[in-house]
Amino acid sequence: MIMLAMKKLGFGTLRLPLTRPDDVKSIDQDLFNRLVDEFMKAGYTYFETGWPYHSQCAEDACRKAIVERYPREKFCLADKMPTYNLKKSEDYENIFTEQLKRCGVDYFDYYLFHNLGNKTYKQCEELGGFEFLRQKKDEGVVKHIGFSFHDTPEVLVKILTEHPDVDVVQLQINYIDWENISIQSRRCYEVARKHNKPIIVMEPVKGGALASVPEKAEKLMHKIHPEDSPASWALRFAAGFEGVFIVLSGMNTIEQVKDNIKTFDNLTPISPEENTVLEEVKEIISKSTAVPCTACRYCVEGCPQDIQIPVLFSIYNDAMKYGDINYPTVHYQHAVFGHGKASDCIECCKCEKSCPQHLPISEIMKEIATRFDKEK
Ligand code: SF4
Ligand code: SF4
Repeated sequence: MIMLAMKKLGFGTLRLPLTRPDDVKSIDQDLFNRLVDEFMKAGYTYFETGWPYHSQCAEDACRKAIVERYPREKFCLADKMPTYNLKKSEDYENIFTEQLKRCGVDYFDYYLFHNLGNKTYKQCEELGGFEFLRQKKDEGVVKHIGFSFHDTPEVLVKILTEHPDVDVVQLQINYIDWENISIQSRRCYEVARKHNKPIIVMEPVKGGALASVPEKAEKLMHKIHPEDSPASWALRFAAGFEGVFIVLSGMNTIEQVKDNIKTFDNLTPISPEENTVLEEVKEIISKSTAVPCTACRYCVEGCPQDIQIPVLFSIYNDAMKYGDINYPTVHYQHAVFGHGKASDCIECCKCEKSCPQHLPISEIMKEIATRFDKEK
């Protein structure tokens, strides 16, 4: 049975604190442990991890911070199968066994196929993916099954119709993407509700973008709630929909954990008046963000040119937003040191196949190359 009474805030481990900002493997374990303690102390229990997070280091970090420090029955752990990476049926078992080992558990409370879409779904069907999930649930090593989803509502209808027994669906829901024609959050949400699926929300703060909104937008929010952070608005928006039972937030400072707990301890849905403010905020943000990348890094591993795609996008966004005031060229040179430059992109489009935001990465690389690599 889904634990609908569970507190709604979930701890996502895609963006853990680092000891070296340019090395995603350098997880600050001590700080992560303290974040977990703060979270658990407030009565929150849901943790979510994934095979590719932090270049395959997040599951180990979860074992150290959560599993080795708290009784198993005191927390819920969700993990995800890297569906897009599989070549043969045996991969399911091999990866699943390794995930149990990395996490140090003998069962997962929630186990999801990661980033399911039209192509990955077809591949999953060919390799017997859903049979594998059901088998693991029958064995008791997975309590609830589901999938995270990044495609059209039509594909979601197909999957849920063909597999009505999945327990949960994980969707990208935030106020920027709600009516976005490429993400189609609202329509996907409506499909999940029609099929009576409890919903886990991912990217409610859009990779942190809705936590630090342009000053003009923040002023509008502060006018109504001087004490509330922009992140709290985004989380309340996502948490307010019927059927949402967990909202994941990647937290990497104690302040963020405390702020999120404050929001969820006193959770109130967005009012019509607040919604009007969010519409204005949306306009301002859309005008100021050149590339809506969420820094999930799913694209990075497969790039044959070793281009740090989300890092370059972040620098490019800053350059577009602030001009030269925060030294974008210096940041760019630092980011490409030892890695591929934007102009090294060979337009193979491998990255685009794994991008949940459907970004035309190779096209954007050309623009970035024009901006930063012109002297080369
Ligand atoms: S299109 Fe460019 S950025 Fe994307 S994987 Fe290929 S080389 Fe890398
Ligand atoms: S480009 Fe796409 S896949 Fe890569 S980090 Fe950004 S959102 Fe994620």
